[in-house]
Amino acid sequence: MLGTGDGLGVLEQAMRAALTSAGAALLEAVLAGEDGYCGPRAECGCGRQAACAGVRDKTVTTVLGPVRLKRAWYHCRECKHGFAPRDQQLGIGDGSLSPGLSEMTALAGAEVSFARAAALLAGLAGITISPKTVERSAEASGAAARAAAGAEAAAIRARTIIPLPPPEPVPDMLYVETDGTGVPVRASETEGRPGKDGDGQAGTREVKLARLFTVSGLDADGRPVMDPGSSSYAFTFDGKDTLARLVKAEYLRRGGEHFRQVVAIGDGAAWIWTMAADLYPHATHITDIYHAREHLHDLAAHLAFITPDPAQWLQYRSAELDAGNISAIIGAARAYPLDGIKASDLDRKLGYFERNAHRMRYQHFRDLGMFIGSGAIEGGIKAIVVQRAKQSGMHWTVGGAADILALRCQRASGRWNDFVAPGAPGPAPALRAAV
Ligand SMILES: [Zn+2]
Repeated sequence: MLGTGDGLGVLEQAMRAALTSAGAALLEAVLAGEDGYCGPRAECGCGRQAACAGVRDKTVTTVLGPVRLKRAWYHCRECKHGFAPRDQQLGIGDGSLSPGLSEMTALAGAEVSFARAAALLAGLAGITISPKTVERSAEASGAAARAAAGAEAAAIRARTIIPLPPPEPVPDMLYVETDGTGVPVRASETEGRPGKDGDGQAGTREVKLARLFTVSGLDADGRPVMDPGSSSYAFTFDGKDTLARLVKAEYLRRGGEHFRQVVAIGDGAAWIWTMAADLYPHATHITDIYHAREHLHDLAAHLAFITPDPAQWLQYRSAELDAGNISAIIGAARAYPLDGIKASDLDRKLGYFERNAHRMRYQHFRDLGMFIGSGAIEGGIKAIVVQRAKQSGMHWTVGGAADILALRCQRASGRWNDFVAPGAPGPAPALRAAV
């Protein structure tokens, strides 16, 4: 027996256990009042009529522990499909977890490995489910969120959903930054694909991520400050065209056309500018200065055999790059007569600067109070992808990684309640059936 002499820790643990089991019994009693019987026949998903075939038990694991349900069961003779209308009423679908526990599982499984998530659920909530169940449930939640977000994006592009303008005061600038990284996948996921995929590492598939955020003002040193909580993300494993479609929808959802200034920052890859020119042609396009510096180092190394003082040459060119004086860099690099392969290599390396010169007017962009580096998307890649999906020993299926990244994206975008929480609008019934 518990007594007044017991420590608070002992008491609260005992009280929680008592309340939890009383809650589970109460929940089971409440649920027993309804079994979902809707007459001898019910409409099957195939469009025909399914016949009632008695009552079936199901044990659902809830945040209060396991609860037994009795549900009227219907069976379709045409398509051999069996179902309980009560399951849909309760929002439990095919899984064995309740909506509340599914959400907790999604939250934990999105943050840490499935094994650690199962341990957290046991330690924090006293719920015992296997890592495999965490994985299945979290990925099902992610798949549903992905489908719902995809359906919303399609509806926005088709203008069947018209987003509201951003709330006043509208921040001064909207940024769109894009980048990619390789996620380690199972061998079966890279078979038959060209060797160099994404970042070129074997055994990875590239995920492309876009981050949209706003800037309302500058700090005391005149540097732009990202508005807290203003970030939203879109991602895909399906390549640049799919990402462009998702970014377009997100840009429209954020009310992109209402901002005075839109800024697109990328690493210099051509597809990013093609996308930007298509989606927001009036935007200012900036090549990330850190990528530009890497290219400059590469250029200096290429010419080191002929420049009298390579270190100083690089120093001067770096200052020119910071100033956005790209023609000076090109002029300096062309000052030496090269031929053969050295000359064609030089042409290729300078091509990067020639093509992007107007996106490298760094001093001008700084004067306008703009970011010139892609730190925001690199931070996003790290926080959303690397910390969860690129840990040692991980080998994902592309679908599984996409499901978990969908949860992380919606959470980081502040849209968890729109797509993951119980009662979220969720996918259309047709999409739900496909999950
Ligand atoms: Zn049927």
